[in-house]
Amino acid sequence: MNSILQQNQEKSYKLLLIDDDKVDRSSFQRFLNKSDISCEIQAYSYGLEGFDAFKENQFDCVFLDYNLPDIDGLEILGKILAVDPLASIVIMTGEGDEFLAAQAIKSGASDYLPKDALTPVVLVQCLQNLEMRKAKEEAEQHNKAKSEFLSRMSHELRTPMNAILGFAQLMSESEKDPLSEAHQARVSQILNAGRHLMDLINDVLELSRIEKEEDDVSIESICVAELVEEVFSMVHPISEEFHVDLIDNISSHKGIYALGDKMRLRQVLLNLVSNGIKYNCPKGSVTLTVDILDEKYLRINVNDTGIGIANEKLASLFKPFDRLGAEYSEVEGTGIGLTISKKLIELMNGSIGVKTFVGKGSEFHILLPRAPSCQT
Ligand code: ADP
Repeated sequence: MNSILQQNQEKSYKLLLIDDDKVDRSSFQRFLNKSDISCEIQAYSYGLEGFDAFKENQFDCVFLDYNLPDIDGLEILGKILAVDPLASIVIMTGEGDEFLAAQAIKSGASDYLPKDALTPVVLVQCLQNLEMRKAKEEAEQHNKAKSEFLSRMSHELRTPMNAILGFAQLMSESEKDPLSEAHQARVSQILNAGRHLMDLINDVLELSRIEKEEDDVSIESICVAELVEEVFSMVHPISEEFHVDLIDNISSHKGIYALGDKMRLRQVLLNLVSNGIKYNCPKGSVTLTVDILDEKYLRINVNDTGIGIANEKLASLFKPFDRLGAEYSEVEGTGIGLTISKKLIELMNGSIGVKTFVGKGSEFHILLPRAPSCQT
């Protein structure tokens, strides 16, 4: 059976209704008539007829009765999703069918509607929710495709970049065929620009990797004082180069443990401390402290005495590739470190924030869960 019913309103939905109960079909139609929704409905009594219609047309949503005369509702659901994994399917259930509804949701249905609770308002809300859900799913798919593309592109770029850097280095260091002073200066430019480009490629690769593997953190108990010691020894050479003092106010708190991914927390602290050094002033300092906030959370603070960040720039601070004007300074960077840091800390169920005063310095703080063994 096939009936095409038209409603003329501003926005138009194309709906597929598969339900063998005549009374239910006409109530569905009546409720739609009473709502503000403009739509075209194709209605079928048999599951396989409805499925054929689905393959031949594009529908915004399928309303599917669970009990059909020819085929099980779940089977039709599976067939439709095999054709279009993003199809919006609402299962229509009878009284007391909540278990079946839950099963349908697990199998990929977007929503369920108890037939006895159907009203024009409920139908409108259901369609609006589906639309929002679909938009979100599409955005997620685009994002995944973008991360995939960036990750592949970065991989492909690394090989020729390595060759450029390798050969430039060979030319620069060759004792057999030494370069003239002018050529040596040009090769140095190639090496500097090449290394900067390689940093960018690696950062993009890292960011797309994090975006793709959202669950890939291994949470463990981390001794904050030990980690800070490691980080300070790693950044020691640049602190000397920039004439900035490193002050460790955490080392006396050996008993404080955070819950997080050690390697990634180290990476975040390295980024924050290096920034504190790079955007500082000669004879300035970077100080690390830790606060126990309550029995569940602690906060690691990275304070610097540097240039600070103007209020109007703060909204872009964690955006990728935005260097907030530092691209016009001598300080090297890619503008992606803070984006990666924020994502990593959020993967560890924490958060990152900043307090800053232009000309006086900044405080970046990381809020993280405490390790259970150390909660008092
Ligand atoms: P990068 O340092 O590679 O440019 P980041 O993502 O780490 O990238 O930082 C983004 C921008 O935020 C920097 O370019 C800089 O302008 C600003 N910034 C970061 N940390 C500080 C800081 N401690 N003090 C002042 N400005 C900072």
